[in-house]
Amino acid sequence: MERKTRVRFAPSPTGPLHMGGVRTALYNYLFAKQRGGDFVLRIEDTDSHRFVPGAEAYIIQALTWCGIRPDEGVDENGQVVSVPSGRHPHAPYRQSERKPIYRQYAEQLVRDGYAYYAFDSAEELAALRAEMEAKGQTFIYNHSTREKLRNSLTLPAGECARLLEETTDWTVRFKMPADRIVKMDDMIRGHVEVNSGTLDDKVLWKRADELPTYHLANIVDDHLMEITEVIRGEEWLPSLPLHYLLYEAFGWQDTMPRFAHLSLLLKPDGKGKLSKRDGDKMGFPVFPLQWTSPEGEVSRGYREDGYFPEAFVNLLAMLGWNPGDERELFTLDELVEAFSIDRIVKSGARFNPEKAKWYNKEYLRRRSPEQLADDFIPILEEKGIRVTEGDGKDFAGGCFGKEYVRKVVALIQERATFVKDFWDIASYLFVSPTEYVEKDAAKFWKAENTALAFELAAHIGAMEGIWEKESFEADVENYIKSREWPMGKVMNCLRLALVGASSGLGIADIACLIGREEFIRRVDRARNTLGA
Ligand code: GLU
Repeated sequence: MERKTRVRFAPSPTGPLHMGGVRTALYNYLFAKQRGGDFVLRIEDTDSHRFVPGAEAYIIQALTWCGIRPDEGVDENGQVVSVPSGRHPHAPYRQSERKPIYRQYAEQLVRDGYAYYAFDSAEELAALRAEMEAKGQTFIYNHSTREKLRNSLTLPAGECARLLEETTDWTVRFKMPADRIVKMDDMIRGHVEVNSGTLDDKVLWKRADELPTYHLANIVDDHLMEITEVIRGEEWLPSLPLHYLLYEAFGWQDTMPRFAHLSLLLKPDGKGKLSKRDGDKMGFPVFPLQWTSPEGEVSRGYREDGYFPEAFVNLLAMLGWNPGDERELFTLDELVEAFSIDRIVKSGARFNPEKAKWYNKEYLRRRSPEQLADDFIPILEEKGIRVTEGDGKDFAGGCFGKEYVRKVVALIQERATFVKDFWDIASYLFVSPTEYVEKDAAKFWKAENTALAFELAAHIGAMEGIWEKESFEADVENYIKSREWPMGKVMNCLRLALVGASSGLGIADIACLIGREEFIRRVDRARNTLGA
């Protein structure tokens, strides 16, 4: 019987989720949704030494911001995600809450001869390691050494039973076969073979904290949660032989998931893995959301840098996957349609921060001016501008109607990459200039030009009716041309008066937005400040 597709994203809450981690979650989500399957969020928190407070909430908030909603798992309040049926056959989803489940599986492996109890203390192992190192060798706990160490394979049964009973620092280790070719298939890398003789006897369960290690918990949970595909980072590829052998040891081969290991995200120069530190060093975020570490160190986030979640998701999807054609812009739903594991690249995907900005610019261009006005209002308020309903404008009082903001945004959205750019591009549409860029004034504010500009301004000020861009432009052009005035010089002069600089929108756009009264006031102020 065809099994329902069930994939999982299984982060460890050891810190904020790096953008590579979000990409792993995204690919899992796309894979599941395309097949009408389930996307499970499982928190792998069995390593208490590496637990970082706030990391779990961060991971969930980051996924929520991206629109990646788990069908099962832990929600933002730390509760089990509510499901339509109300039933949770696979809960809990936090491994620390599944603690009692794992021991029986570890014991089962020992009973069946696939694992053994190891009694070597941490000190004994450290001493062995040091001894081997001194000889220029590396210690590895496996078929080559286990016969000489203190474990249930070497100690008499009675002694073993006593140690199990009386001591608490023993572990269960996997008995890695001495010489087995493990044959594996990866959905991205194809067929892979590894000789088990080079691998070590990994610890699966620890008596000290009665917790499983990653390997045991991961396999047991993927089995119990009926996971059909495991899509994860390539750092887990070396663990794949062990995972294959664990499925075999449990007798779960028939329902063993298929595996796909994703290549790394690389630094912009392609040299090495994109690390958590790179962003701060190179001036771009590597985290979806801003993160403050328990020590108070702040790392920037895409959200706080002004990225739209749609742009972030889109750019992440394209890092290591392509649709097979030239298309670059995809909504999450379109990605669900277009995604395919066989177009994931095997090599590392180089991150290009400029391309990331390009995505945001494209999304900004496509956003409606209404939405953008809503996005811009908090920034305006921070700058001391009040926004009310309607399309009023009060430059003296610093108060503008939402409709006015919408009109401004519609005019400038093509020029911006982020909403936060709007203020730099168009602050003069909210605040009258009182200062003028010195070098622009030196260049354009010359008596021969200002005389013409004032005459034109007087004509404009007296123009009948409501100012509309097209008729305004035609009238002004006609006025200048019929007098054979130097168009550029006159316009730059006027722009200096309206903007405070020689760059900015066209005169007609500015004048029609700010209106007659403000237009006249700005020209007068420039004349008073800079002289005629
Ligand atoms: N907890 C592991 C991690 O943090 C999950 C690896 C896996 O998906 O199997 O990456």
